Amino acid sequence: QITRQFILHFSAGLEEKYTRRLSIITELKKELSNTKGELALFYQPKLNLVHKKVTAVEALIRWNNAELGFVSPEDFIAVAEHAGFIGEITAWVYHQAIQDIQSFRAQGIDVTVAINISAQDVMNAELLPTILSLLNAYDLPPSVLSFEMTEGHLVKNLSEAVQQLTIMRDAGFKIAIDDFGTGYSSLSYLSQLPADILKIDKSFVLKLDEQVSDQNIVQSVVLLAHQFGMEIVAEGVENQNSLELLDDYGCEWAQGYHICRPIDAASFVKWFKEYKY
Ligand code: C2E
Ligand code: MG
Ligand code: MG
Ligand code: MG
Repeated sequence: QITRQFILHFSAGLEEKYTRRLSIITELKKELSNTKGELALFYQPKLNLVHKKVTAVEALIRWNNAELGFVSPEDFIAVAEHAGFIGEITAWVYHQAIQDIQSFRAQGIDVTVAINISAQDVMNAELLPTILSLLNAYDLPPSVLSFEMTEGHLVKNLSEAVQQLTIMRDAGFKIAIDDFGTGYSSLSYLSQLPADILKIDKSFVLKLDEQVSDQNIVQSVVLLAHQFGMEIVAEGVENQNSLELLDDYGCEWAQGYHICRPIDAASFVKWFKEYKY
């Protein structure tokens, strides 16, 4: 029996959720239209296990708002996607990333920066020409950037997504499928999506050193990726034993707290100069 108590409780919880969602939309739009410096782009190194060198990083957005405090991208990215303005966030991200890439290169750091994009970005015909002309203005080749996306979001318009991704790839950008093995993942997309890199979800990697079932899964996914001519990135590498297992399996890239947490651009420069494998 549904009690009055329950209904009151339930609606109070819902209201709280919607109020928060609405505040996220309002505050985020405010920040995007008149930036007060609440957004930051952090960088997390990707260690190439073949060359034992860091030659790539992932750009991860951070948002610290006066009203809401620190809001996780897990929360506000989904809200921006639903509310239809993820494109504005993506634009902020690539502008910031390209500026940072220039500064990295000026300091002798040559890394490919991976940007997370949404299905809405893939379907946006303006994205590619805008990024290409920006890179051109900064005299940078397309190889300085790559794109990560979760395949779950792409399946609604598979043929259109395939077409757009092919154009991006032909322009010289590497494409990675993010969070592989979760959500709507399907093996059939592996042969359909034009991608160069497969990122196995961190849920299979976090306890790799302890869990035989994860070891079986990761080994199989490495073989699978290679069958499709893709390189593989393991995210969520938290200890040395996991890193060594991945190296044994022939996994090309490792990313995780064991190597380095996501850090701001200046801290990354310092970290990179001191890092020894
Ligand atoms: P993702 O793209 O799969 O990024 C990996 C997430 O795992 C990041 O969380 C990263 O901080 C975290 N991580 C990395 N290494 C470890 C580890 O060793 N252990 C654990 N426990 N976690 C680790 P973050 O930064 O909170 O981002 C969460 C998600 O938000 C990202 O997942 C991505 O889907 C989305 N996101 C972040 N930045 C952007 C962005 O600029 N644009 C878009 N569209 N999405 C973004
Ligand atoms: Mg990612
Ligand atoms: Mg991921
Ligand atoms: Mg993720």
